[in-house]
Amino acid sequence: MEKLEALKETLIEGQKLSMQGSWDRRAPAKKAVPFLLEARRGLKDYVVENETIPLAWRLLSQAEECLLNYNNAIYCLERAMELDKKNQKDLKRLFLLKDYGGMWNELNLSPEQLESLGIFLDEKLNADDCDHSLKLTKSWLEDNIPKSKLSKIVKALKNQGGFCDCEVLSNVVD
Ligand SMILES: [Zn+2]
Repeated sequence: MEKLEALKETLIEGQKLSMQGSWDRRAPAKKAVPFLLEARRGLKDYVVENETIPLAWRLLSQAEECLLNYNNAIYCLERAMELDKKNQKDLKRLFLLKDYGGMWNELNLSPEQLESLGIFLDEKLNADDCDHSLKLTKSWLEDNIPKSKLSKIVKALKNQGGFCDCEVLSNVVD
């Protein structure tokens, strides 16, 4: 439980910095992203070991929501609701998440695609340093994703702290 408290603190710090306000559909402020990613990473590990603790699922749902991953936020909230007494607040939140999910650009890459992108970036960045652009990521996307989806995916990558190739590798694919 102590570990969960610490993750909660990190998440709250990220939420404060994110400047999103409640139910604001803006991308998180850049300085908030490292906190949000750290909280999400820790909570993801936490729920693997503690899958029956509703609070952990709720916090993970909030972290995903801040990073605008509405599909994941919905999934985690539903897990919490299965473990907890039904309440009105959850139902309202679930409704809003579904509503907002439809409006925002989700990353929408399959786990296999993310893995393949990760392998590609890892190879290229081992040969050459990151040039602080999304050059490599974009070239992979152009070869693997329909053109019409490109700009949405690039936006979604940035929402998750992927502003250049090495950040995509460490923040998004990882
Ligand atoms: Zn970089």
